[in-house]
Amino acid sequence: MIGCDPQERGFFAAGRFGFAAVFFFVLAFFLVAAIVGKTTLAGVKSITGRLALLAAAALLFCCVSCVGAPSPGAPSVPPTTKPGMNLPPPGPVLLPIVQAGAPVLRARAEEVPAEKIPTPEFQQLVRTMIATMRAAPGVGLAAPQIGIPWRVIVLEDRAELVKNLTAEELRERERAPFETRVFVNPVLRLLGDDHAMFFEGCLSVKGYVGLVERSREVEVTGLDEHGEARTWHVTGWPARILQHEVDHLEGTLYVDRMKTRSFVTADQAKALYAGKPIADVRKALGL
Ligand code: ZN
Repeated sequence: MIGCDPQERGFFAAGRFGFAAVFFFVLAFFLVAAIVGKTTLAGVKSITGRLALLAAAALLFCCVSCVGAPSPGAPSVPPTTKPGMNLPPPGPVLLPIVQAGAPVLRARAEEVPAEKIPTPEFQQLVRTMIATMRAAPGVGLAAPQIGIPWRVIVLEDRAELVKNLTAEELRERERAPFETRVFVNPVLRLLGDDHAMFFEGCLSVKGYVGLVERSREVEVTGLDEHGEARTWHVTGWPARILQHEVDHLEGTLYVDRMKTRSFVTADQAKALYAGKPIADVRKALGL
């Protein structure tokens, strides 16, 4: 494209086209001056006058060549084709977590084509999901929770997130830290007949928790962030996290599954039930 880069306006902004125009104009000027100088340029007899005329004409030509160049606010051709120039920054970026009521949380998320996984855009999505989950902080996040309708979940449980739970609570929940896991297009199988009921919250239903009954044991299969096939067979708290996150990919929230009369603010739950065996909590709620 010929035109002025919006970042580089003015006389030289005409670039190569402008300089070529000046060059040909100078040639033409001297040819015309040599042939018909005595008549056409009769009113401009001095060398200085002729040079001034030449400069003015060249300036006018450069300005005309700028017409049609993009305005400063319009999209322009990138100044360089360096790889990665238009990609998001490589570091993790935090995104706001979508809250209940947003349609993306109620739609079935789409399968991710396997060829997408190695792309920089997808890798950036995974980094963003992990960073957003940690910053919340949370133990799991599904892509729809940051407004991306894809079947991707990330999970992680860290020691600092369970430091306020008693040893008995950890044992009862079968909860222990585990390293970051990423599942693309996960398929979940509920195993066995054992179930467990505990309070569950969601980063997309901020400030509340409710009792949800879940399978105690599950197996998930899917692809990891490198596109490798993975299977994870777990019991206890990770099984709960997996069920919660895979539910998100189907447009289901924990409030659809909870015992509604247990719905409570997180602060109230802490004040009323912290440290108590789940059997006592159920009894208090009549469940
Ligand atoms: Zn959730």
